[in-house]
Amino acid sequence: MPDEKSIENVVIVGSGPAGWTAAIYAARANLNPLVFPGRAVSKDLVPGGQLMLTTDVENYPGFPEGVDGQQMMTKFFEQAMRFGTRVVTDDGPVTETVAGLYSPFQSVAEIDLSKRPFRLKGDGGYEAFAHSVIIATGAKANWLGLENEQRLAQGGGGVSACAVCDGALPIFRDKELAVVGGGDSAVEEATYLTKFAAKVYMIHRRDALRASKIMAERAKSNEKIDILWNKTIKDIHGEEMITGVTLTDTQTGEDSKLPLGGLFMAIGHTPATEFLNGQLELDEKKYIKLADPYRSTTNIEGVFAAGDCVDSVYRQAITAAGMGCKAAIDAERWLGEQGVE
Ligand SMILES: Cc1cc2nc3c(=O)[nH]c(=O)nc-3n(C[C@H](O)[C@H](O)[C@H](O)COP(=O)(O)OP(=O)(O)OC[C@H]3O[C@@H](n4cnc5c(N)ncnc54)[C@H](O)[C@@H]3O)c2cc1C
Repeated sequence: MPDEKSIENVVIVGSGPAGWTAAIYAARANLNPLVFPGRAVSKDLVPGGQLMLTTDVENYPGFPEGVDGQQMMTKFFEQAMRFGTRVVTDDGPVTETVAGLYSPFQSVAEIDLSKRPFRLKGDGGYEAFAHSVIIATGAKANWLGLENEQRLAQGGGGVSACAVCDGALPIFRDKELAVVGGGDSAVEEATYLTKFAAKVYMIHRRDALRASKIMAERAKSNEKIDILWNKTIKDIHGEEMITGVTLTDTQTGEDSKLPLGGLFMAIGHTPATEFLNGQLELDEKKYIKLADPYRSTTNIEGVFAAGDCVDSVYRQAITAAGMGCKAAIDAERWLGEQGVE
């Protein structure tokens, strides 16, 4: 059992807009927060979160000219550090890093929420005990896993996993675009894209949409949407910019070419909640279930959650940051009620 003085007031897990915003608020409330920012384990799981994968953020308020995603997350990080946030690197907790967001940060590999203080252990071995925990581990978009996909998804090549984020960019204006998927999100994304595109194809591997009846009707009755049934994408073409895809008919096995000016994935997201090992209540899609939808409380007292790991609906930087703010305020108030200074 750790001595009372070494128990953290609040440990924040994750370093996207939700995690850093929680850190800014917790640090300014004198809670001396400790953040496990997470290790760079793959192209789409890096410190700084999902915005590290994009060059153009045009919808975050305060940046009328738009902002590069990496620059924006560096600013979030610097603001959190300025108020005394500690981050767990392979050398343990530090208040300054030479390499900024590219430092060797630890991920939380083990977590015990069964009793207080909560115990968290990093993948580099650092162990922390905490009165309260904020989970802000985000989610990652599901991709098809095709060869050219990631190359064209980075640096404005016309492949994206977020129509609301990227659909209004000039590269997609008046082009023929396609959305992959057949659920409600796919219909939402396709409908949204019709505002800018000449035409939107929905590419779906079955002969009926998975979307709710009302959403499916919306797609079918939209003159700009054309649903391509029983089709999967075999290949994506283009050097700097997507030029089209090869489709395979799932019934006949026949291949065909479809010229495109943009391709949007809408085949779901995977929230980073596996490390919780079933200790927090999750919904059927593995997102953390909030105890009260207007707050950040979970089914375990003292554990709060924020950002895309709880949100299968909005999935935007501004909503994630807003939830991070709520989680820090909820944690501060809860710690006060517990008599933790
Ligand atoms: C390509 C792309 C472009 C986008 N463009 C826009 C845009 O223009 N505008 C907009 O508003 N939104 C955009 N989004 C969506 C936006 O990025 C997300 O909504 C937002 O980043 C969610 O923030 P978050 O803090 O909840 O999670 P994330 O940004 O996903 O960050 C979560 C962090 O937690 C870390 N983590 C995961 N597991 C652990 C663990 N066990 N221990 C420690 N750390 C862990 C991850 O490595 C990651 O750093 C875009 C998304 C993508 C993929």
